[in-house]
Amino acid sequence: MSDLRELYQEMILDHGRNPRNFRFPAGANHEADGHNPLCGDRLTVKLVLDDGVVKDVGFQGAGCAISTAAASTMTEAVMGKSPEEIEAIFHDYHQLVTGKGGDSDALGKLAVFGGVAEFPMRVKCATLSWHTLRAALQGKGVISTEEDDTSE
Ligand code: ZN
Repeated sequence: MSDLRELYQEMILDHGRNPRNFRFPAGANHEADGHNPLCGDRLTVKLVLDDGVVKDVGFQGAGCAISTAAASTMTEAVMGKSPEEIEAIFHDYHQLVTGKGGDSDALGKLAVFGGVAEFPMRVKCATLSWHTLRAALQGKGVISTEEDDTSE
């Protein structure tokens, strides 16, 4: 368990300092802004949806290390995936970070965010980028975690 905790901290620090896909993709056709008022995290996700899959995705914004690391790993996890596949990943991820289980084998690298379940205040930091991505795919434009249904 302490190994996982170390891995968790290392990965959050690494992705928090050097976020992947921290840029907007050329030709983006879906985007949304996300805001987590509890922590002050703000980010914009833009993506290229083509042939039914996410061909490219990136984000920009400012937030705590967890929100940045979560957005960074999110972009890696959804690249090349269809919206349906993304919903399935998000479902497991949401279960994981809220301490309800979730299929951590299916989550791969994202499984390190299981550590967030110990810090309920951080759950919205870890899910902001995912909610924003889903809002972009659904054409919603702007979301605030204060409006999201965390009971799902
Ligand atoms: Zn945060």
